[in-house]
Amino acid sequence: MARKKIIAGNWKMNMTPSEAVELVNTLKPLVATEDADVVFCVPAIDIIPAMEAAKGSNIEIGAENMYFEEKGAYTGEISPSMLTDVGVKYVVLGHSERREYFAETSETVNKKMLKAFEHGITPIMCCGETLEQREQGVTMDFIRQQVKVGFLNVTAAQAATSVIAYEPIWAIGTGKTATTEQAQEVCKAIRECIAEIYDDATAAAVRIQYGGSVNAATAPELFVQPDIDGGLVGGAALKPDFGKIVNWK
Ligand code: PEP
Repeated sequence: MARKKIIAGNWKMNMTPSEAVELVNTLKPLVATEDADVVFCVPAIDIIPAMEAAKGSNIEIGAENMYFEEKGAYTGEISPSMLTDVGVKYVVLGHSERREYFAETSETVNKKMLKAFEHGITPIMCCGETLEQREQGVTMDFIRQQVKVGFLNVTAAQAATSVIAYEPIWAIGTGKTATTEQAQEVCKAIRECIAEIYDDATAAAVRIQYGGSVNAATAPELFVQPDIDGGLVGGAALKPDFGKIVNWK
């Protein structure tokens, strides 16, 4: 069965709750499609107002992070049940900005992955190399390691429902998109890695996004690649351009 594309916006630390409502209202008619799952991953405080604004549309509201404990003395964190209680179905885990600025590791990402599945939330697990790693020729080794640790103890049935976002760090927010060949090559290698960990059926089911300065001009050639099942979009997800990315065909 063909994989349905999934195009997700990562708002990062942008948009106050009232701005979020305005943006959802602006984008709602522009991102209407049945060809792809459309997810807006928004700051925690924006989740409820964004959901209200998105009601009746095809937009799913997701979270940008989540903690791996159920509840307790973890000041400032958001638990899985807090997300599911308001209807969140997707969460971005292990974004490179969280790995770089907030000491997120593949081990903590793995704990969060397991929790997300336990609560029926679909993780969008990010992976990607630095420019230095690419220049040193260790891109594949590094990403395989991120994927293997991230999916430790995740069952094949759970893995099949997951989303992996390949985001080369040097392409995030820099205006430098990876070439179509580079993006396809790594997304294919990620799928092969999933096949090694599990089996071909799981690899064929998992959805793999490309992320890194995707815009309306680059989306079509990226999304047409056999192993690229959509995109994780930062900057361009805050603009009407996102509608063009979603309706890239
Ligand atoms: C991201 O935040 O995941 C991202 C890919 O950002 P941008 O599209 O701005 O590079």
